[in-house]
Amino acid sequence: MVSRQELHSLLAGEPVFEDLFCSLQVGPKFPTGAVRETREVVALARKFNAEVVRPRALDLDRKMHEEPDYLPWDFVEKANEWGFYSMWLPRLFGCRGVNMVSLSPFLEELSTSCLAMANLIGVHYLGVGTLSATWNLRLMNEIFREVARGEKTGRPCLISLAITEPSAGTDVEEVELVDRGKVTCVAKRVAGGLTINGSKVFISNGHLSTWHMVIAYTDLKRPSESTVVAAVKTGAKGFSFGRHEKKMGQRACPASELFFDDCFVPDAYVCIDQEREVGSSLRPKKKLAMQMIDYVVSTSRAGVCAFGSGAARGAYQEALQFAAETKIAGRPLINHEWAQCVLAEMYKNAALGRLAFAEANYANTLYGLFRLLLWKPFYYCMKYMPRFVIDRVVSPFLNLRLATRLARKFNFDWQKEDEYQRTSGWASLAKFVGSDAGVRNCQLAMELMGAAGLRQDHRVEKHLRDTKLLQIYEGTNQLNRLNLFKCLIARQFPQAEVFEAGEKEGK
Ligand SMILES: Cc1cc2nc3c(=O)[nH]c(=O)nc-3n(C[C@H](O)[C@H](O)[C@H](O)COP(=O)(O)OP(=O)(O)OC[C@H]3O[C@@H](n4cnc5c(N)ncnc54)[C@H](O)[C@@H]3O)c2cc1C
Repeated sequence: MVSRQELHSLLAGEPVFEDLFCSLQVGPKFPTGAVRETREVVALARKFNAEVVRPRALDLDRKMHEEPDYLPWDFVEKANEWGFYSMWLPRLFGCRGVNMVSLSPFLEELSTSCLAMANLIGVHYLGVGTLSATWNLRLMNEIFREVARGEKTGRPCLISLAITEPSAGTDVEEVELVDRGKVTCVAKRVAGGLTINGSKVFISNGHLSTWHMVIAYTDLKRPSESTVVAAVKTGAKGFSFGRHEKKMGQRACPASELFFDDCFVPDAYVCIDQEREVGSSLRPKKKLAMQMIDYVVSTSRAGVCAFGSGAARGAYQEALQFAAETKIAGRPLINHEWAQCVLAEMYKNAALGRLAFAEANYANTLYGLFRLLLWKPFYYCMKYMPRFVIDRVVSPFLNLRLATRLARKFNFDWQKEDEYQRTSGWASLAKFVGSDAGVRNCQLAMELMGAAGLRQDHRVEKHLRDTKLLQIYEGTNQLNRLNLFKCLIARQFPQAEVFEAGEKEGK
């Protein structure tokens, strides 16, 4: 066909082969055990959906409307009982160690019935991802083991991510924008640790979480170079909760205000301090923050796509059932060609959402947060290593500074720029494909169903209220389009200006 040399030069052109076919490349590298595991996870999700999520979804949504301050502990305890808060955490840390790729299909299944309940589980992994992206193995070992213990004792231990501030939402999700944003959450170094002052808003699961991964800045004039991730525990002195937001959708998943008033965080609970870390990193300071954020959002945006795809499928299923049961002009609606076209379009939207999150997760498997965990030798070693070896030999090693240093060397210093751009670009693509698919399918279902689509018991209006929020969080869809441009398109046009930072107000 083509010579080896030609092949190399043709595939290295723009877009490079690796940008397009993560699924093709991951195939032979993906452990077969993880495929079987994923099938089991989907089956389990269907069981949980049928027994717990679907029967409660409408009632819980109504209850939250009537009592916005209600906290859905009963659902959280149920999910904890089923083992969903430690299921996707590595065995290395005393947890179940199911492969992370299977989390997205799990969330998709639950979202066909209730996106809010899916998020009560899913957003815990946003906190998990943030701690993981600091590669602080000692703290991961401590906090993830607490999550596993919480499942044994029946006391849920959830983790939240607190990055959004009252006047900085989009800006804090993008290193190129954060310096012009109005961030105010400041961390001051004091003897033995840090004190944090400021507030956070819209923190999902805030009131329900035991641990909060709080993003603060030691220098508010250059936050992109002075980011700190601190683990703050509920009940810590100087830390308090404010109100829950009254939202149009995903009502069951609280979005909380958090306040920090001279909140002291001992050194042992500072997951990473960018300024201090940089001495051991080969990368410039901004790059380290960029890598950290990209590790997190590249997995969480795939999760948002799974939520959207699930809601898209949920709306499609309601419309399909309605079309099968309803007669229009003497014939079942499902036999009208226009209705078949609408249903085909809805099927396509849900299916493309699923393909998008799968591809984003394959990118994470090749280049991102799942790389080591799904590397075949490591995967099988972890799967079959006896628990006592993990607890007595591996765990003490993870608590050494050396272990964290090695993890950071591997994950920060040796990750290439085009690798994290690829994971980040695909995650952004997945995020807006999935969330737009969810909203679009709800609209199509309503068009097909007429007034029936507006009734609560048909669930489509709830899907629409829930899905709309997906277009906003994890960076608005506009931001994600810009990020896709930056990561996957701008490389072809070095003259293009991406994320023009502009002047910081008041400078
Ligand atoms: C239900 C819910 C749950 C959430 N959960 C969490 C959580 O768990 N943890 C957490 O930390 N945060 C959370 N958030 C916050 C969320 O991440 C932010 O709302 C989101 O990043 C958008 O920020 P913003 O709302 O401040 O919008 P803004 O940043 O104010 O954006 C307003 C508009 O301006 C546009 N815009 C902004 N900057 C640019 C730019 N540079 N170029 C082009 N357009 C731009 C946006 O696209 C948007 O249209 C949650 C939000 C919601 C709604």
